[in-house]
Amino acid sequence: MLEVSEIFVSLQGEGPFAGRPAVFVRLAGCVPPFCEWCDTPQALGSGRRMRVDDIEDEIARHPRALVVITGGEPFLQWDTGLARLVRALGDSSRQVQYETSGKAGIPADHGGFVVCSPKPLHAPVLDPDTVSRADAFKFVVEEDITPVLDFIAAHGIDARKVWLMPLGAVRQDQMRRMPPVWELCVRHGFNFSARLHVLTFNDKRGV
Ligand code: SF4
Repeated sequence: MLEVSEIFVSLQGEGPFAGRPAVFVRLAGCVPPFCEWCDTPQALGSGRRMRVDDIEDEIARHPRALVVITGGEPFLQWDTGLARLVRALGDSSRQVQYETSGKAGIPADHGGFVVCSPKPLHAPVLDPDTVSRADAFKFVVEEDITPVLDFIAAHGIDARKVWLMPLGAVRQDQMRRMPPVWELCVRHGFNFSARLHVLTFNDKRGV
């Protein structure tokens, strides 16, 4: 069984898979204060308990979509159902991407592509195994990226694995911040990601 916050189809708007149609499986089960601040309060606490087979059936209704396992913190539920779900998805050749804070570690046999969005950024908080198992790191930024640069240096993260995205949950803020964030990417050798879901749908939810 897995604690599920929601399952929905949308545009993967951020990071290495930006632009892909995706079925998002948002797991619940985070108990505050897991992070010092939380940007996904709907995933806190217990969610709807779902059988792994039922989640598989829901995902199978969208056979061409990327499967994004997000949270909450997905790897908190690795041993209680997520490992089984991901093995089943692998058996049917589905491409899996995780969104994680990194705070629950990353299993060695995760079988997908791990995008890590660490928080907080003021101290080295990730262990070396977690850093090495993450395929990409994503940071939402404004003009001053000093904390991000410090975090990257403290953890020895390769710049080619870093994606910077402009802060902003409405289209106007994205448009305004995209050029300066792009300049920062050029200067430091990072990848740039617009937040395509914001540019496409603005602040509309449930799309
Ligand atoms: S992992 Fe996500 S949902 Fe859980 S406390 Fe941190 S920000 Fe909130």
